[in-house]
Amino acid sequence: MNNSLPRIAVHKFASCDGCQLAFLNAGEALLTLSQRAEIVHFTEAGWDAPLAKVDIAFVEGSISTPHDLERIRAVRESAKTLVTIGACATAGGLQALRNGVQQSAEWVADIYASPEYIQSLPESRPISAHVIVDLELWGCPVTSKQVLSALGDLLKGITPVNSGEPVCVECKRSGHACVLVTQSQPCMGPVTRTGCGALCPAFGRACYGCFGPAEQANTASLANQFKHMGLGPKDIARRFLFITSAASPFSDTGRHYLEQDRD
Ligand code: SF4
Ligand code: SF4
Repeated sequence: MNNSLPRIAVHKFASCDGCQLAFLNAGEALLTLSQRAEIVHFTEAGWDAPLAKVDIAFVEGSISTPHDLERIRAVRESAKTLVTIGACATAGGLQALRNGVQQSAEWVADIYASPEYIQSLPESRPISAHVIVDLELWGCPVTSKQVLSALGDLLKGITPVNSGEPVCVECKRSGHACVLVTQSQPCMGPVTRTGCGALCPAFGRACYGCFGPAEQANTASLANQFKHMGLGPKDIARRFLFITSAASPFSDTGRHYLEQDRD
């Protein structure tokens, strides 16, 4: 243990582990990091001390079970700064698609062979629904550059820049042809937070919103545009209720069109 270095932890909740790979895939940057900070908890990488007091705790995953709830409260107690990494932790993730659905005992029994062992909360919710979060990093998954840049700023005592601009701004700066205008693809770029490098439009594919809502996202207007392009209510709902379905205003617009589909 090096007492002079800031201590960091990486915690996992309901998630696929993809965002933790942002650390493990960082390669040589991890060697530099080891000179500037001490990792005290990161189970996937071999450090296991979940209750250790730390300066910065990174949290992957959403809160889905009563046990998760106890753990995230303990993580918050143990950390001076708490940073969520990825769509699961910031917006509930794919698992939040079950929110709002009546979860009857029969439904659980249909899915699990031993339903008596299943203890889940009524909804899968982002970390900020339960404890105070100091910084949210969006994306599915987050990138190594994104995480290490935020960590570097925090270690210097600087508040990391977390752009709320839409993907369209990044897309235009990069000079990509607009797939919505030129190919009538239902692109989520006008309402989605930037940070991916406009990756999907760069390959001629519509953005599907994995970085969550941009600031002041006009989701009603984009949904209306999709309607004029011929998408039905279910298809429009699917565009908004996907990886970041628990994040407003995606959740509100998505559920509005889901209701229309049921009518
Ligand atoms: S945000 Fe995406 S990559 Fe990250 S843990 Fe969740 S599902 Fe996996
Ligand atoms: S392709 Fe999508 S992200 Fe790029 S400018 Fe068009 S609508 Fe915006």
